[in-house]
Amino acid sequence: MTFHTKTSLLFAVAALGTGCVVRAGDLPVVAWQGRTMGSPYTVKIVDGKLTDAQVNALKTEVENCLKEVNRQMSNYQPESELARFNQAPVKVPFKVSADFARVTRFGLELSRLSDGAFDPTLGSLINLWGFGEKTDKHLVPPDGEIRAAMAKTGWHHLTVTAADELVKDLPDLALDLGAVAKGYAVDEMIRVLQGHGLKNIYASIAGEVRVLGHNPNNTKWALGITLPVDQWRENDPMAATVTLSNQALSTSGDYQKFFIDAQGRRLCHIIDARTGTPVRHPLAAVTVVAPDSMTADGLATTLFVLGPEAGMKLIDARAAAAALFIVREKDGKFRQIASAKFEALTGYKP
Ligand code: ADP
Ligand code: MG
Repeated sequence: MTFHTKTSLLFAVAALGTGCVVRAGDLPVVAWQGRTMGSPYTVKIVDGKLTDAQVNALKTEVENCLKEVNRQMSNYQPESELARFNQAPVKVPFKVSADFARVTRFGLELSRLSDGAFDPTLGSLINLWGFGEKTDKHLVPPDGEIRAAMAKTGWHHLTVTAADELVKDLPDLALDLGAVAKGYAVDEMIRVLQGHGLKNIYASIAGEVRVLGHNPNNTKWALGITLPVDQWRENDPMAATVTLSNQALSTSGDYQKFFIDAQGRRLCHIIDARTGTPVRHPLAAVTVVAPDSMTADGLATTLFVLGPEAGMKLIDARAAAAALFIVREKDGKFRQIASAKFEALTGYKP
């Protein structure tokens, strides 16, 4: 699987919009990278006082917290709480960790808000199309199999009790939190680092980014949103640049995880629960800014399913959040449509 990032960190961008003239920052930075959830993660901390021993301790703590998120919510670990819930009997309350319950509640809230466009119970469909933990073989399934998988989905069949128990009333319902778990994990990384009094932080997992305070140049963090082309490379142009502080950014799109079928249709990893098939519309990507990463991540996936029109209504109704929709035009060009608050929240210039 090829992977490229959806968001790039630009240190001081000397000339916004005219390319990436990047200058090394003035203040000391501690940075490291690792892997989690099948993706690279990055931490940058602007702080001149951390010793090597303190940095190592922070790194261990961050890694342990990422392991804990996976122990709760991973589809890929057969012993995770989520995997065990998916195997558990119907109608029997299944006790889970408080954080897992909270993330699931947020997923169900997005389902309600989007009238089911976002649905955390699509595990069967996601696997059927080859985008889940079971196989990465991408084939268009027969209609009968799509209908059978759809019959095993539905956010109405899942509840979270006040005692942090998950209950399903449909056998074979398969929870999949892939659309919010990375964002939640970024929030957890930030929580750990903030707990040590650190104030100027960049944390990301793949395209989920959250920043606090300022960058090494004592200004807001400059982030580049990549163009949603299939093979974007490091020095290719950016779709846009934004500057953020105490905010999170998330992009969902159809240009990284997809396959092309015999008719030349692009079939991506985000599924429309109403049709049981990958989302297909002119939207190539949508980037969401929000106060925290779980919210940005979940909203980005939701808006990607809804498309620019219904998506715009949902995002404009939300305080402190905004979106940039990037629509694929016929001639291979892209059109950008910003929601009402996007410029004000990100410094974006159309
Ligand atoms: P990425 O994983 O590329 O960052 P997203 O945050 O948009 O992208 O999440 C996509 C993942 O969400 C899919 O791989 C799948 O696990 C899950 N998913 C797919 N369709 C939906 C949907 N309609 N509602 C909720 N989750 C979905
Ligand atoms: Mg998402």
